[in-house]
Amino acid sequence: MSDKAILTVNAGSSSIKFSVYEPDSLREMVSGQVDSLNPNRQTSLTIKALDTGNTVRENITANDHAGAFSDVLRHSEMLFGKRTVAGVGHRVVHGGIKHDKPALLEDAVLTELAKLEPLAPLHQPHNLAGVRAASKAFPNAVQVGCFDTAFHRTHPWVNDTFALPRKYYNEGVRRYGFHGLSYDYISGHLAETEPDLAEGRFIVCHLGNGASMCAIRGGKSVGSTMGFSALDGLPMGTRCGQLDPGVLLYLMDKGMDAREIENLLYKDSGLKGLSGISNDMRDLEASDDPAAKQAIDYFVFRIRREIGGMASVLGGLDGLVFCGGIGENSSHVRRKVCEDMDWLGIEIDKVSNADNAREIGTGKVRVMVVPTNEEIVIARAVKANLWK
Ligand code: ADP
Repeated sequence: MSDKAILTVNAGSSSIKFSVYEPDSLREMVSGQVDSLNPNRQTSLTIKALDTGNTVRENITANDHAGAFSDVLRHSEMLFGKRTVAGVGHRVVHGGIKHDKPALLEDAVLTELAKLEPLAPLHQPHNLAGVRAASKAFPNAVQVGCFDTAFHRTHPWVNDTFALPRKYYNEGVRRYGFHGLSYDYISGHLAETEPDLAEGRFIVCHLGNGASMCAIRGGKSVGSTMGFSALDGLPMGTRCGQLDPGVLLYLMDKGMDAREIENLLYKDSGLKGLSGISNDMRDLEASDDPAAKQAIDYFVFRIRREIGGMASVLGGLDGLVFCGGIGENSSHVRRKVCEDMDWLGIEIDKVSNADNAREIGTGKVRVMVVPTNEEIVIARAVKANLWK
């Protein structure tokens, strides 16, 4: 067995998720999370050893990524035992137009990725802070960046552009698409387990707190509901999803500045804004409030609309896959999405849907629930870079 370890890091705006893998088997050994990395909240750290179930839970005083990373590493005995960290893989939301696969995070690449911060202001700076903290802690380990945009670099031009003057496209105003690590995982998993379907035309609905959909043909992304930013497409926990740009002009005329609009669209909209109750689908499903039902109705409506559009772009449909916290667990949302879709070949079985079974379709189109695993995609990329 190897005496080395692979660490994966997913540094978000207010959380850091991490896992430790055994490099030969890619078995996940430890997973953990720092939550509420926010000066106004109590920050907490959880680490779980997956073999023994041993868990550490504690409050920490760090209020930035570097500090939290140091707190995590105080538990290095539990995380790594006697192993040496040979590689660290990072989720990096934006790889721009250049990165269509994972990259070694050397200085020149980091400088280039930092230039993309204005394109993903709420994610990219935190991702790169995680890279800097890990590089300092493990100077001898390879650092590998895995980009949420990379899987979508196969989009045809019509799905990569907006109808703005060309100069904006040339300066990077494009439909990048996100959640690429999840789509990469699902696509690879289908290639292993359902090769016929993987070669065909399918739609993946990644429905979590962030939500998007991806149209895939022959294993390649041909369209995504997210575009220039992670705001477009489906409504999400707190993000608005598709919006007429005229609304932005209206808000600006009312005197709101860019940061206020950013807050509104990223943090106070979506399921939270529509329901006035919660961004959490479980709360909405449990609520009798008509506004909660309407928020779910809007979420479902947008998914159904996108299924129609994507099926048309794909020239037909062989499969529909649900993943993410809502996609994997909410039989209610899946049932509403698939209701009266027999015209497209989508029909589902009530019992297997209620059981969150892997195969829930009974019609011409395969309908599946497949738990996604973005971390293993990162761990595989590190492994591929370790022994090159
Ligand atoms: P993130 O984008 O933060 O990774 P997740 O993929 O964890 O989000 O998904 C979180 C969402 O999944 C929340 O809206 C949560 O309510 C929803 N969810 C989790 N379990 C269930 C369930 N059993 N029924 C309905 N929704 C669920």
